[in-house]
Amino acid sequence: MQVQSGILYVVATPIGNLGDLSARARQVLAEVVAIAAEDTRTTRQLLSHLGIATELIAYHEHNESEMTPRLLARLAAGEHLALVSEAGTPLISDPGYQLVATARARSIRVVPIPGPNAAICALSAAGLPSDRFLFLGFPPRTQSRRRAWLEAVAAEPGTLILYESPQRVLETLADLQAVFGAGRRLVIARELTKRFETFLCGSVGELSACLQADADQRRGELVILIEGCPPSEPKAVSGEVLRTLRILAETLPLAQAAALTARLTGVHKSELYRLGLERGLGARR
Ligand code: SAM
Repeated sequence: MQVQSGILYVVATPIGNLGDLSARARQVLAEVVAIAAEDTRTTRQLLSHLGIATELIAYHEHNESEMTPRLLARLAAGEHLALVSEAGTPLISDPGYQLVATARARSIRVVPIPGPNAAICALSAAGLPSDRFLFLGFPPRTQSRRRAWLEAVAAEPGTLILYESPQRVLETLADLQAVFGAGRRLVIARELTKRFETFLCGSVGELSACLQADADQRRGELVILIEGCPPSEPKAVSGEVLRTLRILAETLPLAQAAALTARLTGVHKSELYRLGLERGLGARR
C-alpha cells in the first residue's frame, strides 16, 4: 500500500510581539509531528509560551543541505511537519528554500500559514508608495559590491526595501547617498511591533545625519525603505550608466568623467554632471 505524503506547513511567527501569532499558526504548531526551526532556542521559548511540546529539529543555513533529505524522508513517510524561522516568515532572508523547492518538485503538499514579515509590516505603515515595490534582502557586506548592487536598482520606480544590521547601517546609508543622492526619500522602520518601535522619515542625507548623531536610533532591528526613482530622473540613466560615471569619477574631475560617460553611453553630459554633483562624485585635483 502506498503511504500518503505528509504536509509541509510554512509557518510565520512573530517579529517581536507574541500576540501576532495567528490562531491557525498555533494550531498547526501544536498538531504537526515535528517543527524544523532555524533557532530551536527561540522557538522553544515561543512553544513554552503557548504550552506546546512538539518535537523541534534544528534547520538552519549551516545544516540545510544535510537536513533537507531527512525532512523530506519524514514527509514521504506521511508525517506532517512545520517549518519556522527565528522570526517572521520562513524563506524571506531566512532558510527553507531548498526544502520547499524540493518538496514541491516531489509533489509533497506545501501549505503556507501567513503572518508577520518585517518588510511588509514596514511598508504597510511607512507612507511610501506601496503599489509597486522591490524587496532586496540584506545588502552585500563590502562597499564595492554594495554600491554595484544598489546601482543595479537605481532606476527602479518602485519602493525599495532592504534589511540591514545596526552594525552596518551607517555604511549602507553612506552608499545609499552616494548612489541615489542625498535627496531621495527614506524611511527607517526600527523595532517593529516591539516597545521601541520607531519610524524615521526624511531624506537620505537627513536620516544618515540623524543616525550618526544618535546611536539609540541604530539599536535593534531595522528595515530601510527607499522611495523609487522619481519620474523626473530620466529613465535612460540606468545603474550601469551611473556605475560607469562613478568609476571614471574616481580618477577624473566630474566634468571630464561626465563627458566620457556621455560618449560611452549616449546619455546627455549635463544630465550626468548634475547626477554626479548630487552624489558628490569627481576626483579633486
Ligand atoms: N524572515 C524574516 C521576516 O519575515 O521578516 C526576516 C529575517 S532576517 C534574518 C532578519 C532581519 O529582518 C533583521 O535584520 C531586520 O532587518 C528585519 N527585522 C526582523 N524583525 C524586525 C523588527 N521587529 N523590526 C524591524 N526589522 C526587523
